Amino acid sequence: MNQSLQKLKTKMTEHELDLIYIDEPNLVGYFTGFESNPHERVLALFLMNNNIFLFTPSLEAKDAETHSSIETIVSYKDEENPWTIIESHLSSYDQPIKRMGIIENNLTVERYNHLMHSTNAQETMDISSAIQDIQLIKSTDEINKMKYAGEMADKALEIGMNALKVGISEQEVVAEIEYEMKKRGISEMSFQTMVLFGDHAGSPHGNPGERTLKEHEFVLFDLGVVAEGYTSDVTRTVAFKSVSQEQKDIYEVVLSAQKAAQSAVKPGMTTGALDEIARSIIEEAGYGDFFTHRLGHGLGKTVHEYPSLSKGSTMVVEEGMCFSLEPGIYIENQIGVRIEDCVYVTADGCIPFTRTNKNLITL
Ligand code: MN
Ligand code: MN
Repeated sequence: MNQSLQKLKTKMTEHELDLIYIDEPNLVGYFTGFESNPHERVLALFLMNNNIFLFTPSLEAKDAETHSSIETIVSYKDEENPWTIIESHLSSYDQPIKRMGIIENNLTVERYNHLMHSTNAQETMDISSAIQDIQLIKSTDEINKMKYAGEMADKALEIGMNALKVGISEQEVVAEIEYEMKKRGISEMSFQTMVLFGDHAGSPHGNPGERTLKEHEFVLFDLGVVAEGYTSDVTRTVAFKSVSQEQKDIYEVVLSAQKAAQSAVKPGMTTGALDEIARSIIEEAGYGDFFTHRLGHGLGKTVHEYPSLSKGSTMVVEEGMCFSLEPGIYIENQIGVRIEDCVYVTADGCIPFTRTNKNLITL
């Protein structure tokens, strides 16, 4: 039984649960080592006090046997009703299920109804926050995977920068990056790759489109890849040909906020204090109203996890946490600058997953 599963088992005991049911593919991968997207079919982990099994569509059973750490694989064919098979398998254990742990924000009503019927459970408990706790601190193995995802994100930035030329559109640059990543074995980006030109970056969540590149404007890249089931996330804003002094000044404010936060990271402080360090620099420069989002977010198997680095957050930074530091200044319809690195916390500081130069790059 791997470490994460062991921790889940401890939570199960703490909360006096008879069964934990998990069918979110990312979490099934996290707890069993079997990464798969079953789409509409049922792929689920059933964890009980003395028993554990992985339920899979039959076409995945062989792979699950090979790749998961779970010995008992129960599977169903497309023409069979998965819930009938689950029900009869559960009854073979002869262990009554009273309290069941589920993930409320993920389990569909349809599956919930089937599950209640198949298990005869009397009550459920949402175990989302217990799982967030487990995922908060990353193992060396997880950090190594994230380092690789970071390296590939640096590569993606390089590809994006090399693609820039007058007249190219944002979506053409996105296509170039993703095509080159696919050729390098990356099958999935962490989220929709963002490439925004000039005034288009004035909204922190803009959509790349047909806007074409002109000289003397900024280009904002925000991207990440999924590698071995772990994500990366990085943002760089670069100048295409020379930019104005005002543009440079804004860039320098964001850069000093980002660097100050990154060098301040230390176990024992709160994530709210980190937000404050970056925010106060931007406020003092007079751009406080234009830094419109939190400083950062945790990441790991998914690109948004705990902790949250927001104003007033009291969560304490611990060794092994992984999160982004991404201050920005956005002036609507004019300019957007964001600089983002994700880091992992060490005993006395932090180390970034991405290494692309942060000083203003002019192409
Ligand atoms: Mn981010
Ligand atoms: Mn990002």
